[in-house]
Amino acid sequence: MTPQLLQLSGIGDRNLLRQFGIRTIQHLPGVGMNQQDRVEATYVVKLKNGVNMAGIRNVNCTYNTTLDDPCLIDYFEHPRTSPYSTNSGLFMMLHSTEPIKPNFPDTAFVFLPFRFTGFRENWVQEAFQYSVGTYLTVITNLARVTNNLGSVRIQSTNAFETPLIQINHFTGPSKQIELNRIKQSIRYLRNLILNSPFSKYVDYEEFPSSNIQTDEELDQFIQKYIWSHHACCTAKMGNTKRDPLAVLNSKGQVKGIKNLRVCDISIFPKIPSYYPFMSVITACEKIADDIIKQAKY
Ligand SMILES: Cc1cc2nc3c(=O)[nH]c(=O)nc-3n(C[C@H](O)[C@H](O)[C@H](O)COP(=O)(O)OP(=O)(O)OC[C@H]3O[C@@H](n4cnc5c(N)ncnc54)[C@H](O)[C@@H]3O)c2cc1C
Repeated sequence: MTPQLLQLSGIGDRNLLRQFGIRTIQHLPGVGMNQQDRVEATYVVKLKNGVNMAGIRNVNCTYNTTLDDPCLIDYFEHPRTSPYSTNSGLFMMLHSTEPIKPNFPDTAFVFLPFRFTGFRENWVQEAFQYSVGTYLTVITNLARVTNNLGSVRIQSTNAFETPLIQINHFTGPSKQIELNRIKQSIRYLRNLILNSPFSKYVDYEEFPSSNIQTDEELDQFIQKYIWSHHACCTAKMGNTKRDPLAVLNSKGQVKGIKNLRVCDISIFPKIPSYYPFMSVITACEKIADDIIKQAKY
């Protein structure tokens, strides 16, 4: 949202603004550039009949699509075992995809008690057609991805039109490194889940599936099913005197514009590790303090 609002307001790359007849107030070629996002994959196993990962009751929830959702009533009657009693995360485990650095985690595994293959259209309907607890999903969440070749550019002067968002996963020099990290994670999870005492609860591997084993098969699978939900970094902070792509100074002030600050996930030069929301809140608290100090309240 931030790069679109800035571009529509005449703050951005003058060549882009000119294409849409927008007068340039401040030429800042970094607006909308440096887009980054996490690389995420999921590993899913179907559990054997009668096994329930979460000890969750079997109720036909409508997931907020009807007023008479039976799971709302069930939640009040069984607050510990109703489907809505789970926040959907069982636990999280940190992992290093580099065997030579086992104590230097770079990946989070998030264990969920339902079938989830990523945030896609209709993911709720897809995931919850099966009872909660009958599948185990592990999300692989790579911290410290290095690809910053994505971008966000307006496509018209209409603020309601979605800008052109190019994520560009697996396009930069780090393509193979990130593919290998996901592959290593999938193989690690296979070993952890299928070659351990836990395997007695597993019926079969559903995603990627036991047919997908070789490097080539896994590469194709990953590139097809990869997803992400931490888009960021398109109005980055930096040294506005030396870095031509820096948009903000360390106080969140937009270069060359008086009294305009940005504070959201777009301000980070690099994607915050694992899950970004706390970093956003912390940065915004700091910027709010700066505003208060400057106003001398
Ligand atoms: C499905 C999903 C799950 C996630 N889960 C997690 C998680 O578990 N942990 C975690 O750390 N992060 C999570 N994230 C990431 C996290 O939610 C975002 O990184 C974070 O919300 C970004 O904060 P923000 O303030 O930049 O943007 P947002 O939180 O998106 O806030 C932008 C706000 O601007 C408003 N807005 C938009 N356009 C306009 C306009 N023209 N005028 C006025 N207002 C406008 C929007 O309505 C919205 O309220 C998740 C993201 C998604 C999509």
